[in-house]
Amino acid sequence: MDQFPPEAEGLGFYSNGTSTIGLVDGVNDASARLVEDFRVTRYELEVLARHYLEEVRFFEYDFAAYRVTGSTAIRMVPFGERRLGSIERILGEDVLVKALAPVEEEWRKRFDDLEIDLATPVKCEECGGEFRRENLCSALCQGCGGG
Ligand SMILES: [Zn+2]
Repeated sequence: MDQFPPEAEGLGFYSNGTSTIGLVDGVNDASARLVEDFRVTRYELEVLARHYLEEVRFFEYDFAAYRVTGSTAIRMVPFGERRLGSIERILGEDVLVKALAPVEEEWRKRFDDLEIDLATPVKCEECGGEFRRENLCSALCQGCGGG
């Protein structure tokens, strides 16, 4: 995989000729190949860092809200985190934290809202009791098992 970034190590896909699992754009497909004769600027690294943070937080939110994960998430999250680590080694923590602040703030609001949603009791249509959802999809009453 030397034409792929080192951060893609171990994040391959599976294919038996008929079906393919875990082929992720920009992580392990043809578009993930490194380009030659193009060097990025520090500003471009900040833009890339925001992109990877968006990807990581998107999948983290999906899991927190819906308990959803999958073959794309389990590749994109480590890839994005590794790329962010590589960018941090180049730009330094202070520059990176500042570059990521608007994205972090946006996601912090979404996670805060989610926490409020999940903490707000739901009324059970079966027994009338109040219960809290574990995630936004599942709404099973802990009292009667209904919802
Ligand atoms: Zn109930």
